[in-house]
Amino acid sequence: MSKRDYYEILGVDKNTDEKEIKKAYRRVAMKYHPDRNPEDPDADAKFKEASEAYEVLMDKEKRAAYDQYGHAGVDPNMGGGGFGGGNFSDIFGDVFGDIFGGGGGGRGRGGPQRGSDLRYTLDISLEDAVRGTTVEIRVPTLATCDTCDGSGAKKGSSPVTCGTCGGAGQVRMQQGFFQVQQTCPNCRGRGKTISDPCGTCRGQGRVEKSKTLSVKVPPGVDTGDRIRLSGEGEAGPEGGPPGDLYVQMSVKQHAIFERDGKNLYCEIPINFVDAALGGELEVPTLDGRVNLKIPPETQTGKLFRLRGKGVKPVRGGSVGDLLCRAVVETPVKLSKEQKVLLEKFRETLGEGGKSHSPRQTSWFEGVKSFFDDMTS
Ligand SMILES: [Zn+2]
Ligand SMILES: [Zn+2]
Repeated sequence: MSKRDYYEILGVDKNTDEKEIKKAYRRVAMKYHPDRNPEDPDADAKFKEASEAYEVLMDKEKRAAYDQYGHAGVDPNMGGGGFGGGNFSDIFGDVFGDIFGGGGGGRGRGGPQRGSDLRYTLDISLEDAVRGTTVEIRVPTLATCDTCDGSGAKKGSSPVTCGTCGGAGQVRMQQGFFQVQQTCPNCRGRGKTISDPCGTCRGQGRVEKSKTLSVKVPPGVDTGDRIRLSGEGEAGPEGGPPGDLYVQMSVKQHAIFERDGKNLYCEIPINFVDAALGGELEVPTLDGRVNLKIPPETQTGKLFRLRGKGVKPVRGGSVGDLLCRAVVETPVKLSKEQKVLLEKFRETLGEGGKSHSPRQTSWFEGVKSFFDDMTS
């Protein structure tokens, strides 16, 4: 089956920005989410298709590769990191958490039920997210009761087969002409009853317990990434296997840096003399300070790119850059003497100071032609 165009899947055109793509994706995903379309056999495939399109189009590099080479440029089997070792068997972005909530748990029928998955939101600093860290977290969960080993029956006794349903968990009832199957009211579908319940768990087989876990956060994680701790979710009822614990990253705002994927941004205020004559400035990076040469005639908005001072992405790939945006500052609290100097300077500018203000000059020209166009 040939793949559909990613832009077509999301119903957007090629120049759509990330914000609109996100919106379009949510629209399509909400429409086809399998939970909302239990009757539609195609919904699942359409949902996955949209997710794939979204993942590619939201990633600047993948999108560029797709625009240039089509689907061949973003084959998920090519390149990319992969993640091995330790406890985390997978780590992935979860754009959906906020829409559909947790879910999961209790997969598969027959045999003891699996415990629910748990989600834990971990707030970490930008520095920790970039460098990686190990954090101890305390998670309230349901653990298998030690006293009865999860059976729910008092020590020395064991659950007995339910007399009402004969262990089937279901009973047939006659209703008019029909035979209706119902969950057994005596054992509530378990097929077993406990005559002598365990005192510790009151027959539930599970107890509330908080546990402390050490979570290894790999370098490069970003908000929305999740680390799965296999088997650290809730214990299953009646001794069933435990669910998983998902630790979801939430990177706190940083006072100086803003992060966009693997790049970091910051603003650097430059005084107008350094901006005009050139100078040197100490700028912060996550690895400490570096000196930045400010060339003469630097304007507000100029971006200085410090290569490799960004983030190394958790899924592999090259390290990002730090982009510093120059903001030229107007001086304040001028002394009398300084004002005199600036007045003198103003006199030297000549007619409107035009030749010294490139932006103002082109702006005035723009304004002029705007009015000329209106009157002609
Ligand atoms: Zn029963
Ligand atoms: Zn117990």
